[in-house]
Amino acid sequence: MYNYIGDKIMTKLLSGIECRNKLKEKLTKKINKIKEKITITVISVGNDEASKIYIKNKIKECQSVNIECQHLHFEKTTTNELINLITKLNKDKNITGILVQLPLPKNIEENKVINTIDYKKDIDGLTKSNIAKLYSNQKGIIPCTAKGIIDLLEYNKIEIEGKNITIIGRSNLVGKPLTLALLNKNATVTTCHSKTKDLKKHTKKADIIIVAVGKPNLIKKEMISKNSIIIDVGINRINGKISGDIDKSVYKKCKAITPVPGGVGPMTVYEVLSNTLECYELQKNKK
Ligand code: NAD
Repeated sequence: MYNYIGDKIMTKLLSGIECRNKLKEKLTKKINKIKEKITITVISVGNDEASKIYIKNKIKECQSVNIECQHLHFEKTTTNELINLITKLNKDKNITGILVQLPLPKNIEENKVINTIDYKKDIDGLTKSNIAKLYSNQKGIIPCTAKGIIDLLEYNKIEIEGKNITIIGRSNLVGKPLTLALLNKNATVTTCHSKTKDLKKHTKKADIIIVAVGKPNLIKKEMISKNSIIIDVGINRINGKISGDIDKSVYKKCKAITPVPGGVGPMTVYEVLSNTLECYELQKNKK
């Protein structure tokens, strides 16, 4: 997929939809060979509007590959109630995976809740056990956005090994696991954040720039080099429209870029399916 200006090809658009569709074909074949029903439980608490959309998308994606999705929603609950629920789900042989939609309301101890999930049912890859595996480069469940970005780069045959990759954002959900996952793939990784001085110094030298901040137009064309590849993770809602963290001026200068919407988002949702299958295989000792 290319971005045309007049009839001249400018920048390659790295479509997450195209990549997801291709990977989903393979995954569907694998799932169809499994005789048992695969069921996951999604737990959500409170009224976060963005979370409602993400959950709807995840459920739709699961259904499209015959993964059953049980959604348990609570207007209000406590840390202990969630821990009790997850403990039961951990023991339930009919449940392959558990996903707690983040963020949880402030009264809930997020870490305690997440770490109650059995690592073999941890579709989001956010439990300490799976993060420790990522840290020590052992096989485990990798958080969905990090895995989705790597799959998207690999699908587009973009080399990771030996490349200078600058990640902007150090959250536990995206930036940190991505840093580890890319280091494990032998990239030279620089992780920037809100206290980084001179962001431009780090973006200019990068072959690949991955931005996961949530600030529209944060990265402008002066901050990048001509041949850089840009992965825009940001999701910003402005007047009902969704945009990423990259200024439109960058599109004309970089070599390739993920659109928003249609880039990292579909990949993240796809990885919920992929991680569910990995959880299934782990539980069946097939891996
Ligand atoms: P977060 O708020 O937890 O983290 C934001 C990070 O940005 C922090 O590490 C912070 O240090 C850094 N930051 C803030 N201001 C900065 C600045 N001026 N310069 C450099 N760094 C700065 O957010 P998150 O959960 O990591 O999500 C980041 C963005 O990615 C959000 O827009 C979120 O909606 C989006 N997101 C998208 C997907 C997807 O599938 N496309 C998945 C997860 C998150």
